Amino acid sequence: MSAIHLQHLVKKFGDFTALKTMDLAIADGEFMALLGPSGCGKSTTMNMIAGMEEPTGGKILFGERDMAGVPMGRRGVGFVFQNYAIFTHMTVRQNLAYGPKMRGAAKPEIDRRVGAIAEMLQLTSLLGRKADRLSVNILQRVAIGRSAIMEPAIFLLDEPLSNVDAAFRAIMRTELKQLQRQFRQTMVYVTHDQLEAMTMADRIAVMDHGVLQQVGSPLEVYNNPANVFVARFIGAPGMNLLRGRPAESDRGLVIDLGPLGVTPPLPAAITAAVRSAQGDVLYGFRPEQATLVEGGQGLSLPVTFVERIGARTIVHLGQGETAVKAVFDNDVGLAIGQTAVVAPAVQSVRVFDAATGLALRAG
Ligand code: ATP
Repeated sequence: MSAIHLQHLVKKFGDFTALKTMDLAIADGEFMALLGPSGCGKSTTMNMIAGMEEPTGGKILFGERDMAGVPMGRRGVGFVFQNYAIFTHMTVRQNLAYGPKMRGAAKPEIDRRVGAIAEMLQLTSLLGRKADRLSVNILQRVAIGRSAIMEPAIFLLDEPLSNVDAAFRAIMRTELKQLQRQFRQTMVYVTHDQLEAMTMADRIAVMDHGVLQQVGSPLEVYNNPANVFVARFIGAPGMNLLRGRPAESDRGLVIDLGPLGVTPPLPAAITAAVRSAQGDVLYGFRPEQATLVEGGQGLSLPVTFVERIGARTIVHLGQGETAVKAVFDNDVGLAIGQTAVVAPAVQSVRVFDAATGLALRAG
């Protein structure tokens, strides 16, 4: 069984707590991304799963088996780091063959596996090449191949794409996902890049300051962030959040945003939770889920910056507490200094308690 259970996992370095009571169940064959900003405890968690660090508290189970005291070499995990660990004096073929050879596999079996993994990672034409003649991109591909060829039941990858260039990263995102589909390993993937997590993972565990913030599918964490940290961290740009107070109107419950006026009515599913909120709330909507309206209901804001990024345009509106971003098609005719009226798509609006940062929602 290659399911992974983290139970009340804690890691302290002296007085500093790097991980506070993490509970996470990763299913057999699941692709789980650990996502969060630098220093949030992702690598610490990963190192404990790998057996490179001892937990200060809690348990790690692989299936039913408690991993306490089980050394890395006996855990049956493959590990790929940010910095490729390969033998530069060897050829690509020798690097790929190294693990199976050490395990005593027969030559025909080694050749078969090297051929298959090279094919999958597009290394076939480079098998005879010495590793010291390869680019960083290809070296990382070889490093992934070296681990994958061992067909570990659990594959751990810690920021494997952070040193490769952007175009190659996009290719590798697809290849890694295909690799996992083929071998059906349980994959744990550490990244600070929400795009990598969103595009590859079955589920994402979002972390901040050593605390697990939310676990869910990419769409769950995008559509229904549990708190303002997740709302801002997921999405590029992140969710817009405007401070205000719930207010009754003849059209239903709205948020009074002070100088920005009142919002359109809130979606019915969250009105009860928002009505019961004490104090200020944060009115949230995604930059991609706003439209430009003329003279209709919406938020009227000055355009402060226009970022044209090819297919789309990110328009920056307002300043300070009223700053929001909206994403439009590339032909949007807005310029700095103009006033735009943007209307968030009602069903996509989310509201958070300003004091606790938690989402106000049904249930
Ligand atoms: P990054 O991507 O920057 O590595 P991360 O989310 O993986 O970020 P960790 O490497 O897990 O973060 O580190 C979490 C915290 O624990 C950081 O504040 C880090 O400085 C601290 N830390 C990690 N290892 C040690 C150590 N051996 N001794 C003391 N503090 C440590």
